[in-house]
Amino acid sequence: MSRFWSPLVHDLVPYVPGEQPKLVNLVKLNTNEHPWGPSPRVIEAIQAEVSANLRLYPDPNADALKNKLADYHGVTAEQVFVGNGSDEVLAHIFYGLFQHGKPVLFPDITYSFYPVYSGLYGIEARLIPLDEQFAVRPEDYSGDCGGIIFPNPNAPTGRLMPLADIETIAANNPDVPVVVDEAYVDFGGESAIQLVDRYPNLLVTQTLSKSRSLAGLRVGFAIGHADLIEALERVKNSFNSYPLDRLAIVGAVAAYEDETYFREATDYVIRERERVTAALQTLGFEVLPSVANFVLARHPGIAGADIAAGLRERSIIVRHFNKPRIENHLRITIGSTEQNDALLGALPEIVGYW
Ligand SMILES: *Cc1c(COP(=O)(O)O)cnc(C)c1O
Repeated sequence: MSRFWSPLVHDLVPYVPGEQPKLVNLVKLNTNEHPWGPSPRVIEAIQAEVSANLRLYPDPNADALKNKLADYHGVTAEQVFVGNGSDEVLAHIFYGLFQHGKPVLFPDITYSFYPVYSGLYGIEARLIPLDEQFAVRPEDYSGDCGGIIFPNPNAPTGRLMPLADIETIAANNPDVPVVVDEAYVDFGGESAIQLVDRYPNLLVTQTLSKSRSLAGLRVGFAIGHADLIEALERVKNSFNSYPLDRLAIVGAVAAYEDETYFREATDYVIRERERVTAALQTLGFEVLPSVANFVLARHPGIAGADIAAGLRERSIIVRHFNKPRIENHLRITIGSTEQNDALLGALPEIVGYW
């Protein structure tokens, strides 16, 4: 029935998320979820809201959450945009800030939603190669373009760029929006939010899906100059007045009221990441230095797809990307101690102690 489709739908190349298997009892290390549940305060807040208010529309502006995020990050509420996961925030960024009839720049190895949004909105994507060590070279991001975007730490490499390099990119490109996608910054990075008052072209996005254990709630946000935020509000209010439901708003607010839990949850992942990295290296893997809740690793003797298949036979799933430069790598989410032990216990047989 594709004759009913709008013409541009024929050319869409949708994003393919990591598998969410229906099977239980899998060791699921493929989509960078946190091994712990959210803070108990989040659960309480959501339960109270379910009991009290589900009949009513949510606040279209989610002011309670914007105020909480503004306080937490030391900015004003006018500098905060919230959305249904940071994926939605990113979509509005591509639509509202990157359509200037010029290419948008991002790394050749990066979050695979960027090319999808480029395609959806007809924006030319110019891929900037990472260096041999998979690091971003800040001096490569310049010239005539309509926008710049990269995650920090980058995904799926896990590599962190120093704040000084982000400042270089923002300063070298004062006339284009520079977006830093900080989905993983809480696992050891330093946020560029502290730079937004000095660089009106700098916009930072974060998500509650990873470090706050709330992938199922769908909350993300952007912080930057009020003029950038205003563009996103215009797009949002032309598309969906209520992207955040009542449960998402109260749950997200509560997540920022339990700093102790947040610290423990992120420290746990960081400790496990260091343990998993060392153990993988002992098994002969090359592991990129990660500041995220995953590691990107390759074994010099065995193809990435074969290792992924071997793990799957043992009910362990990791992410393998069939893409140039990383087709032999695996992206492995840092799970609980037990999950990580299951992975490390299964690998020697698969890689034959190379
Ligand atoms: C997970 C992730 C996101 C999206 O997060 P949601 O808030 O769950 O939509 C955005 N960018 C990167 C780099 C990610 O890894």
